[in-house]
Amino acid sequence: MQLHELELSALEQRIHAAQADYEAFRARGLKRDMTRGKPSVEQLDLAAAMLGPLESHVTASGEDARNYGGLQGLPEVRALVSGMLGAPPEQIAVGENSSLALMHDCIAWAMLHGVPGSARPWSRDIVAAEAGSADAPIFLCPSPGYDRHFALCEGFGIRMIPVPLTGDGPDMNVVEDLVKDPAVKGMWCVPRYANPSGETYAPRTIQRLAAMQTAAPDFRLFWDNAYAVHHLVADPEPLVDILPACAEAGNPDRAFVFASTSKITLAGAGLSFFAGSERNLQWYLTCAGRRTIGPDKLNQLRHLQFLRDEAGLRHHMDGHRAILAPKFAAVDEALRKRFDDLTVAHWTRPEGGYFISLDARPGTARRIVALAGELGIALTPAGATWPYGSDPKDSNLRLAPSFPPLEEVRSASEGIALCILLATLEAERDSRVNR
Ligand code: PLP
Repeated sequence: MQLHELELSALEQRIHAAQADYEAFRARGLKRDMTRGKPSVEQLDLAAAMLGPLESHVTASGEDARNYGGLQGLPEVRALVSGMLGAPPEQIAVGENSSLALMHDCIAWAMLHGVPGSARPWSRDIVAAEAGSADAPIFLCPSPGYDRHFALCEGFGIRMIPVPLTGDGPDMNVVEDLVKDPAVKGMWCVPRYANPSGETYAPRTIQRLAAMQTAAPDFRLFWDNAYAVHHLVADPEPLVDILPACAEAGNPDRAFVFASTSKITLAGAGLSFFAGSERNLQWYLTCAGRRTIGPDKLNQLRHLQFLRDEAGLRHHMDGHRAILAPKFAAVDEALRKRFDDLTVAHWTRPEGGYFISLDARPGTARRIVALAGELGIALTPAGATWPYGSDPKDSNLRLAPSFPPLEEVRSASEGIALCILLATLEAERDSRVNR
């Protein structure tokens, strides 16, 4: 049933019932955290063997991994992640423990030096914009999206334009129109199991991203494939590799590809990866080579010893799926149960990744987060999934069920569903009173 079909008296009754449930829930005095997509202790324990002694500190080519050097990363590690990144090993570089740090560095270097194809450093446009003689660099931001991407842009003075998502990735008609502006220098893309919408970009979307005409010759897709192998289903849809797609479309330098093992092995002690065309990789290595003499190759060996090969990686990810899938199912079940006879929200049932994206009645997301806070349930702040923390409809919520134990996910989800119901019923009543 739709909310507007409820008689006012029935609406009032439901509000009383929801308020009573809410007070009873509050009396339980729970403490739950559904804010961030962190792996649980159980998931981290899957990689416990990595903390044991190394079989050897000698690399496949006979180098001593304890010493300096090896800027690009061990070839055997690059071969291990070649399929995941959709790039040959020679087009991959291994970083330290955070791909977000690589994204930060790439933007910082673009600001300082420009990227291959830039007429000048991106920061000059910011200075010119302040003087009123040019537009500041712009990034397109499929929204809802990842708050830390948006924080990077804000920190660097890059303007952000939200782009709608379609379920098959960004709305390409909008994107193709916006990239006609030469100030548009980049675009955030989480092509698989996007944070938080969970969608995977369709082949046609990827082909259009690779082939579209951009006014900026130094435009870059920031292709953050953070959830490349993080499936919640046994038979995932394949993802079109962006680098060959760009090369085939005649735009070989268009994409900077990022990924990491943060949610494969250890979130605080994994490996990060950059991949790109030969020109982009050389640019990356030149910039990175000024910053460090070489990455932590012992951690690379640790990963290699533990994961072994692509089959080992897939097998390891099955372990994550076994832990995560029931948590996602628990959220879905709690929401469906609470909203069995009344449509008050729409939410995703992702086939991978770390998030459920929920669209509540416009104007209620902040209220829901506040209500949940009163119940002891911490949620990602409303608005965080939009550039500048500003959700124009105040409706999107990002639910992150990975970290708490299953029982806690279940009770937290019941509480969240209750808060959504209460906020929605109250908003409906207020709208009728004010009509
Ligand atoms: N990119 C996306 C889309 C994420 O959701 C996250 C973490 O939640 C990251 C990057 C962080 O990656 P890393 O741990 O490699 O810095």
